Amino acid sequence: MPDCIIVGGGAIGLLTARQLFLQGVDVLLLEKGPLGGESSWAGGGIISPLYPWRYADSVNVLAERSKKIYPELVQTLFEESGSDCELIDSGLFTVVNEGEQDILNWAKKWSVDASYIDDVNVIHDIEESVGEAVDKGIWMPDIKQVRNPKLVKALKASFDHRSIPYLEGTEVEEIIVENGKVSGVRTSQKSFFADKVIIASGAWSAQFSVTQTSVDVLPVKGQMIMYKGEPDLVKRMILSEGHYIIPRRDGRILAGSTLEKIGFDKSVSSEALEELHHAAVELVPLLEGLSIERQWAGLRPGTEKGIPYICHHDDVEGLYVHAGHFRNGIVLGAASAELMADIVLGGQPWCDAAPYTMHAQH
Ligand SMILES: Cc1cc2nc3c(=O)[nH]c(=O)nc-3n(C[C@H](O)[C@H](O)[C@H](O)COP(=O)(O)OP(=O)(O)OC[C@H]3O[C@@H](n4cnc5c(N)ncnc54)[C@H](O)[C@@H]3O)c2cc1C
Repeated sequence: MPDCIIVGGGAIGLLTARQLFLQGVDVLLLEKGPLGGESSWAGGGIISPLYPWRYADSVNVLAERSKKIYPELVQTLFEESGSDCELIDSGLFTVVNEGEQDILNWAKKWSVDASYIDDVNVIHDIEESVGEAVDKGIWMPDIKQVRNPKLVKALKASFDHRSIPYLEGTEVEEIIVENGKVSGVRTSQKSFFADKVIIASGAWSAQFSVTQTSVDVLPVKGQMIMYKGEPDLVKRMILSEGHYIIPRRDGRILAGSTLEKIGFDKSVSSEALEELHHAAVELVPLLEGLSIERQWAGLRPGTEKGIPYICHHDDVEGLYVHAGHFRNGIVLGAASAELMADIVLGGQPWCDAAPYTMHAQH
C-alpha cells in the first residue's frame, strides 16, 4: 500500500509525486490518459506569469522560487532521462502603454531585471523581427522558456529511471472517504488504498465532490497555433494584449492564446486561428510568410485570481488539493510541488502557505 496517491499526471501531479518520492514517500500516481497529455502538454512553457505585476504576491513568490529551481531540475532530468527540455533564455518583451513606473517598482521588489524601453531602435536591437506595434514596453532579459511537451516527457522518463510507481489509462472515479478520513480511491478497474490522497487533476479537479466544500477550478480553454520557421528567425518572446510569440530552438514559433470559458471542449476553431494569426503578424510581420503547421487547444485549470490550491482539504483528513494553477502551471509548478510536499510531510513550509488554502479561496 502506498503512503500517498496522486490523482492526475500533468506537470503538477508529476512534479509533486517526484518531489514526495525524493523525500522518501511511497507514492502512486494515477492518470486517466497518458502522462502529461493535457494542459501541461498544450501550454507555452514561459517561465514567468504573463504580466506578473498584476498578480498577488502569493503567485509571484512561487514564480520567483521556480525560476531558481528550473535550471537544476532540467539538468537533473537530462542526466536521468537523456531528454533535453530546452530551457532557454529567450527573454520576454511585453508591450505596455502605461503604468511603467509601477511595473519597475514591482521588478525592484522581486529583484527581476526589467527595463522600460520606448526607443524602437533599441527594441530592434533586442528583436529585429518585431513590427510597428511593438514600440514601447518592458524588457525582461532573464525570462526563460521550457519546451513543456519535452518537460513532461522528461518527467515521465525520470519516473521510469527512478522506478516511481505510476499507472496510465487509470481514471479515478471516486475518492473513498470513511468517517471524515480518506482511505483511498476507486478506479474502474480496482480500488487503491492509502492514508493520503492528493487531487492534482488540473481542470478536472472539481469532479471529486467529497463534501460540501468545493474545489473551485474551472476549465479555461486556450488555443494555440504553431508556425514552421528556421532557427533564430525570431529569438525573443513577445507579448502584447494577451497575445504572445514563443520561438522554439528548432525554428518553430508558437502564437497564443485564447481564453475561453466554455466547459470541457478542446475543439479548435477557424475564428481562433484567424485571431491568433492576425495578432501574431502584428507583433512579428514575417510570420505572414510562414506556414501554420499545427493548431491545438488545452484546458487550463482556472481559478478566479489565478492563485492555486496547495493545501490540505478543509473537511477530509488525509486529502490534499494541488490544483488551479491556471495560466501558470509550468512556471509555478516546481515551487508549488515543494510546498505541497512540505504540507503533506507536516514540515515547516518553505513559504507562508495560508494564501493557497481552500479557506483563503472562498
Ligand atoms: C494554451 C496554453 C498556454 C499556456 N502557457 C503557459 C505558459 O507559458 N507557462 C505556464 O506556466 N503555464 C502555461 N499554461 C498553463 C499550464 O499549462 C497549466 O497551468 C498546467 O499545465 C496545469 O497542470 P496540471 O497538472 O494541473 O493540469 P493538466 O496538465 O491538465 O493535468 C491534469 C491531469 O489530470 C488527469 N485527470 C483528470 N481527472 C482524472 C481522474 N479522474 N483520474 C485520473 N487522472 C485524471 C488529466 O488527464 C490530466 O492529465 C498554458 C496553458 C494553455 C492551455
